[in-house]
Amino acid sequence: MAVLPPNVSAETFESAVREFAAAVGEEWVFTSDADLELYRDPYSVMRGTELESLASAAVAPASVEEVQQIVRIANRYRTPLFPISTGKNYAYGGASANLSGSVIVDLKRMNRILRVDDERNFALVEPGVTYFDLYRYIQQRGLKVWIDPADVAWGGLVGNALDRGMGYTLPFFRDHANAACGVEVVLANGDVMRTGMGALPAADTWQDYKHGFGPDPSGLFPQGNFGIVTKMGFRLMPQPEHYRTGLIRVPRRGDLSETIKIVNYLSDSHMIGEVFYESPLRALLSDVGFRDAANRRGGGNEAELDRYAADSGLAAWQVELQFYGPRATCLANWEYAKERFAREISGSSFVEGESVDLPMTEEQLHNPNPWFRSGLWHREAGQGVPSMSAWSLVNTRSPQSPDGRTIAHAGFFPIIPRSGEGVFRAQQVFGDAFADLGLPPFNAALSTPLVWAMFAYQMSFPMPNDNAQVHRALLHLVRVAADNGFGDYRVPPFYQDHVTATYSFGSDALRRFHETLKDAADPNGILAPGRGGIWPSAYRQYRYDWEQDV
Ligand SMILES: Cc1cc2nc3c(=O)[nH]c(=O)nc-3n(C[C@H](O)[C@H](O)[C@H](O)COP(=O)(O)OP(=O)(O)OC[C@H]3O[C@@H](n4cnc5c(N)ncnc54)[C@H](O)[C@@H]3O)c2cc1C
Repeated sequence: MAVLPPNVSAETFESAVREFAAAVGEEWVFTSDADLELYRDPYSVMRGTELESLASAAVAPASVEEVQQIVRIANRYRTPLFPISTGKNYAYGGASANLSGSVIVDLKRMNRILRVDDERNFALVEPGVTYFDLYRYIQQRGLKVWIDPADVAWGGLVGNALDRGMGYTLPFFRDHANAACGVEVVLANGDVMRTGMGALPAADTWQDYKHGFGPDPSGLFPQGNFGIVTKMGFRLMPQPEHYRTGLIRVPRRGDLSETIKIVNYLSDSHMIGEVFYESPLRALLSDVGFRDAANRRGGGNEAELDRYAADSGLAAWQVELQFYGPRATCLANWEYAKERFAREISGSSFVEGESVDLPMTEEQLHNPNPWFRSGLWHREAGQGVPSMSAWSLVNTRSPQSPDGRTIAHAGFFPIIPRSGEGVFRAQQVFGDAFADLGLPPFNAALSTPLVWAMFAYQMSFPMPNDNAQVHRALLHLVRVAADNGFGDYRVPPFYQDHVTATYSFGSDALRRFHETLKDAADPNGILAPGRGGIWPSAYRQYRYDWEQDV
């Protein structure tokens, strides 16, 4: 099982490990199979094959100075490092590196909450701080700010933002890389750099204004490999006074375009939180004729689906809105939304949801209106409360081995235009792609986007119980998506080269720019080689050209 970093002899590696131990303490360097098992991705599509990425060792520093020492040792011995924060990036690679043989730098021990300010609304944390940790800290002190947890909240703010994770409250806060404000990072040469106002030694405005003066390199660290982040600031949402939900139904398939236009307006005007689109026509899926119509090649036929809607009395689409803020503005914004829909889409109808003063009681939090989606999956996250409830998706939505074990879990979320036309086009493209792959249909004509910072198209379907088939499907879907202008936003390390290859404008100008920077900032290529599709020259031969397998 034990692997070595590429081009490093066993003897040299032993010397490097001895130096890591001298830097952080023997008990914080891990090389046994049992310990390294924890750094494998249990859901890797390549698990157990020769292509699976395995760690050569793991090292767990407790301070910025120890991180600096690790980086200097890695440079001396040319051992590639792969930093993780809490290492819970399941669906996107877990704790595993792009390059097999990397040394995992596990930052869990650096878990101090350095500051939370509920007047200026920010937090400054170390990488090992989980969503649960920060939530508890805020609750214990009665601070009036919310966190915006990602699902499966045993992960943390830093690791999640560094993979451009998404949450479930208001638009500004649920784009976690966007809500980040100020980064401290150990660079490949061992320097400690602070971005934005953090570069001004006497400033107390690091988390107030992220850019400072001059170019702001903080955007290089999410999905990049230019440093090991040791502190990160986040803007926090002030605790809202009130919460209200409402549901809007529109009768015809074509109404989706106008619906999205209005909802984009509400969202971009900061009137609403996460939005849930759905088709009530799903209730008809037990009817074989309707199921065929929802899975028709070439996309759903508008007239046919409208007939089903008219005959059944069901709306073609519904959209659920969540309002946060003072009670009066929540109500006024909901009234405004209804008025816009009534004026612009004939036949719109409205359902009143909850109207609750915040924070919710335990009773309110755990007994939501059962047929509002915001009351189910994302109830806690939408209330700024960390939870593990989404973990059950790993078992219900992932391929299973014959003994019922989950065998793979890999996210694929292509970004599509925020318009009805974009949704209809994605339904057609992915519905047809599934048919081409021989995968089970997923009622494409009824599928709807996930509304994060962008529209991410979601496909929910039983996966084949065969990793090789999942692998071929992912390669194909990434390519088909790109050919239609839909780029994946986040992907496990194993597929990052494939996705990067699709962002090819100007003969791969973006990737070439990243790699020019990488070679200048990290000449030995020791920091997370391959992450974000960025390969330093020292390891460039490890880039995998998946196009040959598509
Ligand atoms: C069922 C299910 C639902 C999920 N739902 C969501 C969701 O709603 N939203 C969402 O965003 N994610 C979701 N995820 C993915 C995942 O659970 C979270 O994103 C989780 O927060 C990531 O783990 P982490 O915080 O431990 O990050 P880590 O694993 O610590 O970090 C992620 C990556 O960032 C880089 N990195 C981490 N720390 C550093 C550092 N200090 N310096 C430099 N680079 C670093 C590394 O490349 C690392 O692999 C879901 C996963 C599952 C299985």
